[in-house]
Amino acid sequence: MTEYDQIVVGGGISGMTSALLLAKQGHKVALVEAFSQPGPTVRGFSRKGIHFETGIHLIGGLGDGDPLDIYFKHLGIGPDLVKIPFNQDGCDCFRFEKQGKQICLPHGYERVRQVLHRNFPAEKSAVDKYLDRIRTIFDSSSFLNFELDFSLESAVHDENESLSNYLDSITDNQELKALLCCHTLLYGTPPEQAPLTTHALVSGSYFRSSHTIEGGGKALADAYRKQLEKHGVDILCGKKATRIRYDDNKNFKSLRLDNGPELHGRICIWSAHPAAMLLAVEDGAFRPVYKRRINELQETVSALILFGIAENPVEELQGKNIYLWPETDYNKVLSGKTGMKDNAIFLSAGQTLGRGGRQSITAIMPYGLENFSKWQDSALNGRPQDYLDFKSKLMTEFTEQVFTRCPELNGQVQFIDAATPLTLRDYCHSPYGSMYGAAHTVSQYNPLPATKIKGLLLAGQSIIAPGVMGAVISAYLTCGFICGHEKINKELRCIYNA
Ligand SMILES: Cc1cc2nc3c(=O)[nH]c(=O)nc-3n(C[C@H](O)[C@H](O)[C@H](O)COP(=O)(O)OP(=O)(O)OC[C@H]3O[C@@H](n4cnc5c(N)ncnc54)[C@H](O)[C@@H]3O)c2cc1C
Repeated sequence: MTEYDQIVVGGGISGMTSALLLAKQGHKVALVEAFSQPGPTVRGFSRKGIHFETGIHLIGGLGDGDPLDIYFKHLGIGPDLVKIPFNQDGCDCFRFEKQGKQICLPHGYERVRQVLHRNFPAEKSAVDKYLDRIRTIFDSSSFLNFELDFSLESAVHDENESLSNYLDSITDNQELKALLCCHTLLYGTPPEQAPLTTHALVSGSYFRSSHTIEGGGKALADAYRKQLEKHGVDILCGKKATRIRYDDNKNFKSLRLDNGPELHGRICIWSAHPAAMLLAVEDGAFRPVYKRRINELQETVSALILFGIAENPVEELQGKNIYLWPETDYNKVLSGKTGMKDNAIFLSAGQTLGRGGRQSITAIMPYGLENFSKWQDSALNGRPQDYLDFKSKLMTEFTEQVFTRCPELNGQVQFIDAATPLTLRDYCHSPYGSMYGAAHTVSQYNPLPATKIKGLLLAGQSIIAPGVMGAVISAYLTCGFICGHEKINKELRCIYNA
């Protein structure tokens, strides 16, 4: 029988970060991942010799000295990552289709300020207020600002002002408000429900810096794997955790896998969706009110994704992403209930293969899992014909939308495959197929790392915030309860000050 110090469930960014952080502190760690390889959400896939991105298109806060840069150096994966900055003059191009207007926000606070001042000369004071507030919130967490003294409380913001209420309080300009809401697409929560603090963490990271990585999400997942192996983590892939056992004193005892051994350890970190954790725990551990709270967490929206190939680099997507926003209700778009014509579309390109070479193109549209309830019991690679027909019809409609609303891509891109909310659900083993796990909203308390089972801790995007940054921070927060937050923070500050 193998006895571990810690067993980490879920080999996503948060699980890999947790396992690596603990192993580097000298612990004996197992990492259990249901998919055949670590990092299924971000790893992407290959078709026709081209790499397609899935869960990473742009990474915020990875510039030199930025928080993710420091975390990746601390984990030892930094040297294996070649960072590619997005276009500094404008990387997030928001197209307001009704107005026929496009505004490209750069990265770097001062550049963002200049672009906003230029486009909204009568709103300079509102723009300044907004940017200063975002920066103040971002910089007030000692998990993001290594110049601050460490404070555990700073990881969790309990302010409950929504993004839309805040914007209403600083301006009446609808166009400006619409623009400042656009990043909500990157964390999947409608502006009426999105806490300004969550918005600040995500937007603030992209205002600081916006990068991709050479080799994309696969390179990131491989860099993690290399360090996990180097530090002796037992990586158990293709194994689903099915049962969490605890003793009479409610101490975590062991973890059962569906096609593997029972793993024993002192601590289990569950980094997959918290609702999936409830299903794995033996009855009686949690009070009904806690179970209800977790089971009723509002989810972020799921998506339809188109994967295409451009024979030559697409000019409009070099170092840039395009966000197509028809005049619409943002809150409705992010509920996944909008028809295609009124829906937002995010367009992004992968890296080119060789000089002037082929390039992968991804189009993402928020779309609800409920549209697929008829096939909810089907599994990957075993879907019935009527599902395949429906998917094909959606793909045709979605392709038409992309070509009509972004004519520059017409004739340049051939879409060859697609993912539906069911694909996201099953490929990433995420119960609701949501893009970013449980939503962070002004009206709900997401679970914190500690649970009623001693030694069972939660991590992951549903705990603190979504995205690569949110997942990494959640792992540091959770592992800090094991290794000591101050100790780890001191190590991070040493790297920051070096
Ligand atoms: C389409 C899309 C585009 C995105 N684009 C970006 C982007 O450009 N930038 C950005 O920062 N973020 C982006 N994100 C979000 C980002 O990918 C996620 O927030 C992040 O990867 C979440 O990491 P995680 O470890 O918390 O969760 P996950 O990646 O979901 O990891 C959980 C892991 O647990 C595994 N698992 C589940 N149940 C079990 C079980 N019972 N036993 C064993 N293993 C289990 C799953 O297979 C999974 O690997 C995107 C997400 C999507 C879906």
